[in-house]
Amino acid sequence: MKQMHETVSNTGAAGSVTVAESSTALNVEEHASASSNRARTGFPKQNGQSLSYWLQQVRSDPLLDHRTTEDLPNDADTVIIGSGITGTLAAEEHLKIWPEKTVVVLEAREFCSGATGRNAGHCKPDQWRGFGKFEKAYGKEQAIRILNNEADTWKALVSYVREHNVDCDLWVGDTLDVPVDDEVARLAKEVFERYKEAGGKVDHIKVTTDPADAVRISRIKDAKACYAWRASTLQPWKLTAHVMRDNLEKGVNLQTYTVATSVTKAIEGHRRWVVHTERGDIACDNVIHATNAYSAALEPDLKGIITPKPHICTKVVPPRAVSGSQAIQNSYGVLLPDGALFSINPRSSADGSVMFGGSNPGQQALDDWVEKHPINCINDGLTDVKGVNQCVQDFIDNNFQGWSQTTYGPGEGIQYSWSGIIGLSVDGVPFVGELPGKRGQWICAGHHGHGMARTFTAAPGLVNLMSGKSWDTVGLPDVYQITEDRLQKLKGASVSKVAII
Ligand SMILES: Cc1cc2nc3c(=O)[nH]c(=O)nc-3n(C[C@H](O)[C@H](O)[C@H](O)COP(=O)(O)OP(=O)(O)OC[C@H]3O[C@@H](n4cnc5c(N)ncnc54)[C@H](O)[C@@H]3O)c2cc1C
Repeated sequence: MKQMHETVSNTGAAGSVTVAESSTALNVEEHASASSNRARTGFPKQNGQSLSYWLQQVRSDPLLDHRTTEDLPNDADTVIIGSGITGTLAAEEHLKIWPEKTVVVLEAREFCSGATGRNAGHCKPDQWRGFGKFEKAYGKEQAIRILNNEADTWKALVSYVREHNVDCDLWVGDTLDVPVDDEVARLAKEVFERYKEAGGKVDHIKVTTDPADAVRISRIKDAKACYAWRASTLQPWKLTAHVMRDNLEKGVNLQTYTVATSVTKAIEGHRRWVVHTERGDIACDNVIHATNAYSAALEPDLKGIITPKPHICTKVVPPRAVSGSQAIQNSYGVLLPDGALFSINPRSSADGSVMFGGSNPGQQALDDWVEKHPINCINDGLTDVKGVNQCVQDFIDNNFQGWSQTTYGPGEGIQYSWSGIIGLSVDGVPFVGELPGKRGQWICAGHHGHGMARTFTAAPGLVNLMSGKSWDTVGLPDVYQITEDRLQKLKGASVSKVAII
């Protein structure tokens, strides 16, 4: 408890952060990405985690602390470390390809209590915004492939939910990207036009460049333009739980509250690897690292390559003036100066409470504080970080039409915020494939705060690679592949500025 109080008051300094005068970048989470302490890593925090809104909704669900068998099996064909969306989807694909093989999923804490169980609930495929940065980093063709892959991923997620009738509050509708400053709007237009010229698909994007129309469509007072396309919001824990329950019925062994402490070469028996835990060891042929932000704690070669960083999500209950027929109907990316961003999920198909995620300007002070106190890089016990909440409050007071004249009654307005740990990738895109020099150890991690638009293709893609398929046939952008060459080039590089939530 003491630790929590210390944390909140120290980060309270974040309240003094102001928005930069000029926009130096578009869609660039400077705030999310400026990590200089490259070696920092850690295992999932064991006590005092904040409870996300999603985790609060499922407290009586026995899956949270499920152990399929009382004792840890001492042998399996494959051990998957991590029960977030990546580990859970990897287990699903594994069952499809090898229904007869044994799979154990290890989870350090409650089921799906990492980033997946704590995010802002947006599955928003980037359909143009990241093109500029991706093109600069990887060239035109790869940049287009990344954005196409995000569209494929979103479609795969929506199809899964519909086909399996998953109760996870899925909403499908127009997401709006709204620049709220002239310079950001200029950059947005430039990137959009360049993407179009490069042959990127844009027919499905409705573009409004007249500020008055943008204000009308978006209901955001300072809107300078508006880009609209299809995306989704959902309850991410419930989706992941649905997939995992199906996995359990088909024979997967899930062991929660079991931290994998190391992976070593098997020195006896017929298996390749041994996964060590405090509850015993498991000998296996394949290990899947679905550990995202925490990957480098188990695999030190990934230090400085995948870096954990706390992020905040804030739950706001809309006041009466913006409820009912006046409720917000779209999800948003509000593009602020200097690369800051509000990601807004209004849970239109559920209770209508509005989740504010992304990297709002208040995140910078939190990042600076974590730099000075790196032990907090895996601290998802942070809550109600003042600077972040203040930015949300300022935005809804000053910019969202209908909210400004509100006198909040009890139960309305900002309720609570929680933290989760994102896995920054040093070059901004995930690492998928076999760990170089470690035959039988596989990874899908480093989703850079944007995993909901990546994992529904990346996780099954990884398992298809395990089955012997070539990279070219699994349909992922080449730049996601983990290779010795990529790792060598990235050693010593500074963290990418490309990040999108
Ligand atoms: C506040 C916040 C908001 C976000 N908002 C969005 C959003 O709106 N849209 C979007 O696309 N993305 C968002 N993200 C990012 C997204 O949630 C992640 O990219 C995605 O959930 C990653 O899934 P994962 O399964 O790879 O990782 P996780 O969900 O983090 O799962 C990894 C799991 O591995 C476990 N683990 C780690 N190490 C060990 C070990 N040694 N032994 C046992 N278990 C271990 C962890 O406990 C954890 O449960 C957000 C993230 C945060 C933190």
